[in-house]
Parts: sequence; C-alpha cells; structure tokens
Amino acid sequence: MPTETRTTCPYCGVGCGVIARREDDGQVSVKGDPDHPANFGRLCSKGSALAETIDLDGRLLTPKIGGEAVEWDTALDLVAERFSRTIAEHGPDSVAFYVSGQILTEDYYVANKLMKGFIGSANIDTNSRLCMSSSVAGHRRAFGSDTVPGTYEDIELADLVVLTGSNLAWCHPVIYQRLAAAKQARPLMKVVVIDPRRTMTCDIADLHLAIRPDGDVALFMGLLAHLVKAGRIDEAYIGAHTTGFAEAFEKTASLTNADLIEATGLPAMQIREFFRLFEATEKVVTCYSQGVNQSESGTDKVNAIINCHLATGRIGRPGMGPFSLTGQPNAMGGREVGGLANMLAAHMALESAGDRDRVQRFWNSPIIADKPGLKAVDIFRAVADGRIKAIWIMATNPVVSLPEADLVRAALAACPFVVVSDILEKTDTTAFAHVLLPSLGWGEKDGTVTNSERRMSRQRAFLSAPGDAKTDWWQMAEMGRRMGFGKAFGWRNAAEVFAEHAALSAFENNGSRDFDIGAFADIEPDAYDDLKPVQWPQRVGQQQVETRFFADGRFYHADGKARFIAVEAAVQAAPTNTFILNTGRVRDHWHTMTRTGKSARLSTHLAEPFVEIHPADADRLGIRAAELVEVASPHGRVLLRALVTPRQAQGNLFAPIHWNDQFASNARVGSVIKAVTDPFSGQPASKMARVTAAPYEAE
Ligand code: SF4
Repeated sequence: MPTETRTTCPYCGVGCGVIARREDDGQVSVKGDPDHPANFGRLCSKGSALAETIDLDGRLLTPKIGGEAVEWDTALDLVAERFSRTIAEHGPDSVAFYVSGQILTEDYYVANKLMKGFIGSANIDTNSRLCMSSSVAGHRRAFGSDTVPGTYEDIELADLVVLTGSNLAWCHPVIYQRLAAAKQARPLMKVVVIDPRRTMTCDIADLHLAIRPDGDVALFMGLLAHLVKAGRIDEAYIGAHTTGFAEAFEKTASLTNADLIEATGLPAMQIREFFRLFEATEKVVTCYSQGVNQSESGTDKVNAIINCHLATGRIGRPGMGPFSLTGQPNAMGGREVGGLANMLAAHMALESAGDRDRVQRFWNSPIIADKPGLKAVDIFRAVADGRIKAIWIMATNPVVSLPEADLVRAALAACPFVVVSDILEKTDTTAFAHVLLPSLGWGEKDGTVTNSERRMSRQRAFLSAPGDAKTDWWQMAEMGRRMGFGKAFGWRNAAEVFAEHAALSAFENNGSRDFDIGAFADIEPDAYDDLKPVQWPQRVGQQQVETRFFADGRFYHADGKARFIAVEAAVQAAPTNTFILNTGRVRDHWHTMTRTGKSARLSTHLAEPFVEIHPADADRLGIRAAELVEVASPHGRVLLRALVTPRQAQGNLFAPIHWNDQFASNARVGSVIKAVTDPFSGQPASKMARVTAAPYEAE
C-alpha cells in the first residue's frame, strides 16, 4: 500500500510542511501539506523537487577511517579515544564541534550537552553563525532574550511591509507567495524593498531603495530622527515599556541630511517617501535577513530597525513588528538548545552563574562551560594556529561556505584529527576527514525543526536507513558513552531526547523566560510521532496558546523593559579600483548544492556560477556578457561567468554562494571573502568583500 508521511522541508527557514508519498515500488513524490500553517499547501521550486534529491548516488554508507570502510564501533572508539587524549593533554578548549542549521533540534541538543556539560568547553558553533547570529545579538540587546516577536500572519496583516536585506522571492519563496497574495487581495498594502540590487522581490515593490551596501544603520537612524520630528513617536509606550530612548535619539543628531544621503547613496526624495510611508502607517512589519545580518555592523542594523518599532510602539500587535527571517530549516531550533558558542540550552545565558548552575544540576554533569567558546570563524583560525587539535564537523561544508575558505582548507589539512559526519562521501570538506561517519538524510531521520516564526514541526522518516548510516544525535550520544558519561547519554529514540530538552526548558521555573516547551516534558513516543506544528512557548497547563510576544509590553530584561540601543552610522569609503562583492542564494539551489545539485531540473534555472556586473563597469573593464571573469582578493580568486545587468549597482558585484569544487573549478566565492566579523555577533560580513574583477585570460 502506498504511504503518505507528513514532514517538513529541509531547506529554508520558512519551514514548509510536505507530504511525501511512497508508492509500493519505492517511488516517492511530494506535495505541500495543506494543513501546515507555514505554507498551507504551497511549495517552492526546491521543495517541489525534493523527491529528485533522495537517491543514493554519492552517499556515504559506512564509517571510514583513512578511506577504509570500518565498523561503527571501530570508528567511534577511535573518535572517542582521540578526543579524550587531546582533552587530557591540552585541555577541553583544544577540541571543537562545528555543526549546522541543517541538523535537527535533537541532534543539536545532544551535541551541545556533550560539549558544554561533559567535555567542559563551549567550543561548539554552527553554520547558523553565518545566517542569523546578528539578529540573536540584536534581540538580546533590545529584548533581554533571543525572541522573534511576530508570525507569518503579521506579514499578511500589515499595511506596510519593509523588506531590508532580504531577497524574499528567492530565499523565502513561500513567504513571498503569501505576501504577494495578501498584496493582491488588499491593493492598498505597500511593500518597500531595501537592497543594493534590483532583485526579483522588487516585482511586488511599491518602492525600491537601492541602498549602498551597509547604509542600513544610517537609514533607520534617519527614520528615527524623522519620526521624532514628525511627532509620530509613541511617548506613552516609550515611557512605560522602554529605556535608552534619549541616548539613541541623541546619536541621530550627528547624522546630517548630507550624511544620510552619502551613507545610503539614495536620492533625498526616495528617503523622504520611505519615511513618510513608515510614519503614516500604523501596521508595519520590517522583515530582515542576511543583507542585514552578514555585516560588520549587523547587530547595530538589527537594533536600528528595532529602535524604530519601539519608538512607535509597533511591536507585539497584529500586523506589526520587526521580523528576522532565518535562513536555514533549523537555525531557530539550534538557538533553542544553545547550539551557539555563546549560549546555553533553553535560551539560558552562558554568562549567568545561576543559569549555568541550573543547567549543570539538570544534566547532573561533572562540569559546565563557564565562558563563551570560539565562534565559527575563530574556530577555524584556532585550527589553523594549532590551538584546536581535534574537530568534529557535522552536516556542513565549511571549506566552501566560510570566508577565507582557502585558509579553512589549509587549516583542516594540517589539523591532527578531523571527523566529518555527512550524508555524502565526497564534499570539499570530507576530503580532509580522518574519520568519516555516515549520517541519515532528509526522509530517513526523525526529529524536530523550528522555523522563523518559532513553529516547531516534525521531520519524519519515510525511507529506511541506507547502508550503515545513523542519525547525528546517536553518533554524539555514542561518543558521550564512550567518553565515560554513560547514563547521561542513554536515550533510546529521538522522542526521549526531545522530552529531555522540553523538561530542561521548564526546569526550576525557567518558564519565566520566553522559551518554554515544558508541556512536552513527558511526551510519549506515540504523541511525539503525532506532534502537530506548534509555536513556542508551550507551557505546562497553558490554556491559551500565545502566538505573538510582547503584547503586554513586558520584555525580558530584569526591569521588564526593552532597550533602545544607541547605534552609530558608518559612512563607507567609496570603492576606488575595487568592487564590493555581495554574495547570496539563487532561487533553485541550496547552500553547497550537495542535494539540489542532484536535480537536473533545478539546474536549468541558473546552470553555472556567475557574477553580476553593471554594464558600465563591464564596459570599462572590457568584460563581455557570458565571458569568464576573474574575481580576486588577497585571499583567493574565482572564475565566474559574466552576467551583465543594470539590476546590479555600479561599483558592486553579486555572486551566488553555491558552486564549489564538486560542480565547477575555482568557483568557491568564500575563498575571496575576507573573514571580518560583527563585533557583537561574530557573524562574518559576507556581503561586503573588497575584490577586483578582470576578464579571464587563460595561461
Ligand atoms: Fe522549502 Fe523554503 Fe521552499 Fe518552503 S519556501 S518549500 S521551506 S525551500
């Protein structure tokens, strides 16, 4: 009999529900789940092609040591022995885990527990650092916790949707579809897109602000000043529910109109039009994504946006609020379990002695990390200089995705011990593994993911495990048992891991915080199997489900008030003989293409790595359409096909992040990006690399 399984798409942070149908002959087809509140049956091109990406070509099916197939016991004994010996000789901070927003919450929980509670280091970070960590830092500064206030429904209810640093049409396509449908139904609704490029998202924009890269802080500071001048701030709200307004406003005094125009590169008329729209519209949602987060000033950008919503009291009510859109399927789930080097599980704070004590007692662990660990970029710097001597990389491809990717490659080549858990045998990163561990992929594993609007959904298995592949949490739990931490890693299934995670979220009234899913602390495997998509919090005995935070004007700082943050605008020096390279996703590929690269259909949209360049720049440099361009920086060089287009601003380039050595030569754009990071979040500024461009001449 054919079977139908409700599961969740493994790509972007929209977190669409998928129904996977398996025929008697093993054929699989997918369709959108009409009952899933994220997508109501819609899917984008990537989600629709999921069935084309689940074949076993290239799969890693057995553990390997030095390229030789071995039993799990042999591989895991070696991993545990090498990590234990390294820790004994050099201390707990000499090892690291680098995980991924692709793994499930249960995987994240176990890895985090092992590293922070039993190894005693916080050297566990994730590729989500590249995705939304500036938003996390901004939320914590403003709200006292990492809390996304709104829901997707707010985007549909708003009268003005501001999309800044977000190519929603390609990167969160189903939210874009929902927004476009809402706009069609309510023609008075306005959409403003703030992006240096004219992207496909601009197709529904009433106003496109082609801002200079990193001009966002200045723009939103200018907006705050304008709202004050126009008498459109909510003084009662500011007085009752916030602190720091005067300091934040004072900073705007130093920003003249000329500065604002210089910093944003926008005509005064367009700036005024945006300010007037924002001023006059009560229901405003400001969505932001990697164009805001991936910047040296990413956290300040987030707070500059939140400042404007706090000043107008437009937060916590239907159809209004700042809204960070996560890039990955489980970037939010990773945040819930403290999967970042500067966080503890259940949104508790690593810097709080009380939180550390609470988590340690709950885990009954011998130790607890008491200082932040190294963040993504710094982990690989520490591998490069020998401070980290053993690393376990799980479900991610840092040799492609991190900035200064050639340095990452060299670091792994020199690292004494590298473990990689992956579904594929050959990636740019698995090439450096001393031990390769086969993981389960989408459709094979069970667990939960949480999307951008805090909605937890089940990923369910509908395929049998291929070869000897095992789930990621099991691999980490076996490691814990082998390192001598037996009982604390004794789960029998994903449901038990989830229940422990839920129990910790409510332990000793941690439920006074935002993240509380204590209602699931006693969940049985059958109920876990049936779990419907739900938004947190889900408190014990909760009668009414809260879908929106801060409706009561109470925040998570000790005094219950939100904070205005006094940010400062940087005016970037104009490029001289270099370009600013912006990087991002294309519509039909995902990350380093390890899965979407399998679908011929998905590669028909954009078949090759390319660089977008303005016609005037192309003319000046003698670059002709469709010819190869060498894009270079002191860190590396890539060869990309020229896509000459006026959508791209002069002086700027755009290149997609996806292609790598598996699909094209010299196409890893990470290799030309300097590894500079936001000082608060540690997120790399992957949209602001200084590069040169020239026609490629074969040697
Ligand atoms: Fe998957 Fe995102 Fe597309 Fe939804 S919008 S189907 S989650 S890639």
